Amino acid sequence: MASQLLLPPNPFTKSVSAKVFFTGDYQGLNDLTLKKRSNQPAKVSNGFSIRAKATSRSTHNKSFVEIPKQWYNLVADLSVKPPPPLHPKTFEPIKPEDLSHLFPNELIKQEATQERFIDIPEEVLEIYKLWRPTPLIRAKRLEKLLQTPARIYFKYEGGSPAGSHKPNTAVPQAYYNAKEGVKNVVTETGAGQWGSSLAFASSLFGLDCEVWQVANSYHQKPYRRLMMQTWGAKVHPSPSDLTEAGRRILESDPSSPGSLGIAISEAVEVAARNEDTKYCLGSVLNHVLLHQTIIGEECIQQMENFGETPDVIIGCTGGGSNFAGLSFPFIREKLKGKMNPVIRAVEPSACPSLTKGVYAYDFGDTAGLTPLMKMHTLGHDFIPDPIHAGGLRYHGMAPLISHVYEQGFMEAISIPQIECFQGAIQFARTEGIIPAPEPTHAIAATIREALRCKETGEAKVILMAMCGHGHFDLTSYDKYLRGELIDLSFGEEKIRESLSKVPHVV
Ligand SMILES: *Cc1c(COP(=O)(O)O)cnc(C)c1O
Repeated sequence: MASQLLLPPNPFTKSVSAKVFFTGDYQGLNDLTLKKRSNQPAKVSNGFSIRAKATSRSTHNKSFVEIPKQWYNLVADLSVKPPPPLHPKTFEPIKPEDLSHLFPNELIKQEATQERFIDIPEEVLEIYKLWRPTPLIRAKRLEKLLQTPARIYFKYEGGSPAGSHKPNTAVPQAYYNAKEGVKNVVTETGAGQWGSSLAFASSLFGLDCEVWQVANSYHQKPYRRLMMQTWGAKVHPSPSDLTEAGRRILESDPSSPGSLGIAISEAVEVAARNEDTKYCLGSVLNHVLLHQTIIGEECIQQMENFGETPDVIIGCTGGGSNFAGLSFPFIREKLKGKMNPVIRAVEPSACPSLTKGVYAYDFGDTAGLTPLMKMHTLGHDFIPDPIHAGGLRYHGMAPLISHVYEQGFMEAISIPQIECFQGAIQFARTEGIIPAPEPTHAIAATIREALRCKETGEAKVILMAMCGHGHFDLTSYDKYLRGELIDLSFGEEKIRESLSKVPHVV
């Protein structure tokens, strides 16, 4: 079901009687002929009355809550535990020491923990305060545009320094590395969000940071690279000739556009051969999902402040971290019987790991250097079509999300990119925020749900993960606005070939 492109009408073409009031200190609109009188409507030159009310982060603001002090680990509440990761050579369950060349001990511990709650270190909380708590916003103008009885809320993570939810995990990852004496961290980045988040976090903890950015994006998105460099990181296009993995790809395809899988291989290789260097991953792994639950923990309290319980929770999934971050604490509440929301992941039609991938053990990277993880995968050497879905172009899905999906606690759909951008335009022109390409998938799915509510008359409460802004993704908006975007259907042929290389694990 494609949504129509609804845009807000000019409210002034009908006769309206709008009154805006203004009390308290008033700054900023000085050049309007405005009389400042406390509690008195002031006249503006266009004849409207204005009374603005200062809203601070006070108890009047329903979105304001204390920053949660603990992350939540869903594994503790699952009666069937997820299958363990396997060693890439022996196919035996990995032991903590197998990972110690890649990650600091505390993160290895968090990766395997069965504890329900993990304390957030004070130092991390201090930094979270730069942008947390993040707002929960009711999208009233979008509701009005869609003429839906549904109430739409979005949890907005775009106010972080890097512009997305990724600093929620970049900061603790940098913190634990620095604390354990690591000097350098290396990583990959696709759209550039993760690289910039880790560059930002590394700068706060005095770590050197080196990033392999998927070549395609390196060349198309110079501003993300410049952000990373501004925060002090070194950035290489991937595939590069700095690693064995990169050189091998370049030999077979000198103009390879790169992929996340290839960039991961490069960063992992560099971490493995340098004693003082560790690797960081921005999604997929348990400890990343764990750190992101700060989103859902905050949101549970905020929904309570609004007096609402979600009926549907919607988020986009690349590796799954923003989706898990919002939804896992709600799944806990669901398991406790406190609420019963439908939990819906949305992925691009051209990279549909949950909806069309197989659930099997596969590598996290192209070269096969990472542990094998049981997950929904399109095959570790899958190279997605050049769609404008930012970070939603990874071949796999978080093992924990894959497991939760297999257990039937959530559902998944895929949406083609033109419908996503139509939704993004409607969102931008009603709610003001220009979404990153990734959450346009969540927006399109939210609009589908809201329009269904319009048909059935149901006043559902829809909660959506709005995980980042799109200020550095305007090229994709340019393509959409020029009518140059096309819907690439999922290449069955290519996937079959790619899936044939998923390792056979008995
Ligand atoms: C990285 C990123 C994603 C995809 O990663 P997940 O782990 O699935 O969240 C989605 N949205 C934004 C804004 C991102 O930066």
